[in-house]
Amino acid sequence: MYSLMANCCNWLKRWREPVRSVTLIMVGLDNAGKTATVKGIQGECPEDVAPTVGFSKINLKQGRFEVTIFDLGGGKRIRAIWKNYYAESYGVIFVVDSSDVERMEETKETMSEVLRHPKISGKPILVLANKQDKEGALAEADVIECLSLEKLVNEHKCLCQIEPCSAIMGYGKKIDKSIKKGLLWLLHIIAKDFDALHERIQKDTIEQKAAEEQEKQERAERVRKIREERERKEREEAEHEGRNVLDEDDSESISGNPFQPISTVITENEKKIEKERKRQREGNEKVAILLKPKTFQEQVDTQSLNSQQSNESRLVENYKCALTQRLEHEDENDQQVSESLNSGDNASLNSGIENSKKKAKKLKLKRSHRVEPVNMEETVSPNPMPLAPLAPVGWETPTKVNRIRKLEPLGETRHNDFYGKPLPPLTIRQRPNSDTHEVIS
Ligand code: GDP
Repeated sequence: MYSLMANCCNWLKRWREPVRSVTLIMVGLDNAGKTATVKGIQGECPEDVAPTVGFSKINLKQGRFEVTIFDLGGGKRIRAIWKNYYAESYGVIFVVDSSDVERMEETKETMSEVLRHPKISGKPILVLANKQDKEGALAEADVIECLSLEKLVNEHKCLCQIEPCSAIMGYGKKIDKSIKKGLLWLLHIIAKDFDALHERIQKDTIEQKAAEEQEKQERAERVRKIREERERKEREEAEHEGRNVLDEDDSESISGNPFQPISTVITENEKKIEKERKRQREGNEKVAILLKPKTFQEQVDTQSLNSQQSNESRLVENYKCALTQRLEHEDENDQQVSESLNSGDNASLNSGIENSKKKAKKLKLKRSHRVEPVNMEETVSPNPMPLAPLAPVGWETPTKVNRIRKLEPLGETRHNDFYGKPLPPLTIRQRPNSDTHEVIS
């Protein structure tokens, strides 16, 4: 009756207790069996485990505790990250491979390093002497002796419990009882002194975060200094070589937030391209207005700017027109001069008789050398070539003009020797075994 009442009281007491979140770290050398242990606690088969890279985390509920266990990788290089978890840890589970006698010294040093850390000293530690199923595995007492465990825990004021176990023996409800016992012991110690521990963890966590923040800033400062130094050196080198560093930097510089979403970047780029096109279009219109033709040459220039193909032929037509007009105008002038000459106007005859004669002579010469513009319609071939190869426009010699005399055969070729004495005529000889002829002088 008395025990029944006591149980009821305990149950009521526990029911009234708040749910507590507790963080634990599981450490030890690589291959000690940490992941297998964690898996077994979680209820998964501990045999098919892969080596832990970095860390893994499990959550479980044990009584009024919500427990988070960080399984931290045990490789030599990864051990450096352990300290990042010390501040928030309420207790430590240290797994030892009891069968690996050769690494006991390393295990001892590692454990000493953990317990010595100010963020761990004074916190409870559970040592799991794992792989007891293996032949030659050290018994509990031997492990304590090899690790100088008593000395270590006393030095660092850590409450300690050692449990010889085998992580692969079972999992879930069938997990090795020693592991379960050890875990309950750890939680019990934590619960006993929870408030003090919790306060310490809060304080340590804030301190660690501040230290991390400071370290981050110092690192950023170091990086900034290194970058500044590098830029200074680059500038000096560029100045030495006579390059303009600023221009190069400006062309490559990224403006705005470099981490903005890609869709924003695409939209901004499209806007920029559209703006650029608009600017170019406006520029072209302005150029067209500025180049509005006033003279014949300007007309030709404008036409050539507007479109290549249609302008080529128009340009030829304009040129033909202009040249014909000019020639006609000159003809008229020449006519007037001839008329004045024929009318016998003595005054004008006397004043410009010399000039008129010169002009008449010039006109005659000009007419005999006059060339007519090419008739484009006549020159277009059935398979017209693109206009570009035809340009610049050519001029054909009129058939009536007989300035170029007809070539006539020179007759028999005669050669004189050095003294002027005539040489014998060229003789033609047939090549042996050939239909062709060879000329020998
Ligand atoms: P960790 O590096 O500390 O996480 O070690 P693991 O949990 O990955 O285990 C390393 C190897 O030891 C694996 O092949 C496990 O199957 C094996 N192992 C773990 N615990 C035991 C155990 O109690 N007995 C035996 N015989 N092997 C174990």
